[in-house]
Amino acid sequence: CGIVGFTGTRPAQGILIEGLSRLEYRGYDSAGVAIYQDGKLEVVHRKGKVSSLAHTLGHFDFEGTCGIGHTRWATHGRPSEANAHPHTSCDGRIAVVHNGIIENFADLREELQAAGHSFTSDTDTEVVPHLIEQALRDGAPDLLSAVRSACERLVGAYALAVVSADEPGTIVATRKDSPLVVGQGAEGAYVASDIIAMIDATRDVVVMNDGELAKLTPEGVTYYTAAGQVIEDPRVTHVDWN
Ligand code: GLU
Repeated sequence: CGIVGFTGTRPAQGILIEGLSRLEYRGYDSAGVAIYQDGKLEVVHRKGKVSSLAHTLGHFDFEGTCGIGHTRWATHGRPSEANAHPHTSCDGRIAVVHNGIIENFADLREELQAAGHSFTSDTDTEVVPHLIEQALRDGAPDLLSAVRSACERLVGAYALAVVSADEPGTIVATRKDSPLVVGQGAEGAYVASDIIAMIDATRDVVVMNDGELAKLTPEGVTYYTAAGQVIEDPRVTHVDWN
């Protein structure tokens, strides 16, 4: 239902919680974040309110400066902690948040299970981190190309934000039939399903087109076509409403 991501020079935790609170108006049943810290991804997800997620995160107070967050409106798998996003790969080094529906998830899940992947949720989403993990095992050189090849297998609607413990500081984002915007502020780069989640940080945003990918780092954002070509001149939209 709602996606937010940040990578920059400030701790991500507060920025993600603030962004998720702003997306609450859309409705949701659970919420979670994945934050890169000390060589691994810290994943915390809860059934219920963003405020209860924030309360839990208060005990950790992660200092990591790159992370993704999600508010979930369940379509496949009941509202529960196990089904809340982010979802992760077998080794826990890849985390994904997803809006939309992966229509061919049952076939993909069967194929991935046959290849040795084990699943911990009932969601359609969970095939995505496993497909990315498999693409890397099969030789994809980096997270961006692994996300690209995973998406080639997906049928349905999606907005995705992905982080990997092996590429600290990087978020890869892409979409098809589900909205996603990217922006750059003074303290870092943002991705969200709705401009409202980043409006305090930047008013110059790129509204992503179907199939495009974005690679966010603290230094900036690079956009790619579905074929993997760099987009030299991304269409920046200035938002001037209050
Ligand atoms: N289909 C996914 C799920 O049920 C994502 C739902 C959403 O857009 O929040 O977990």
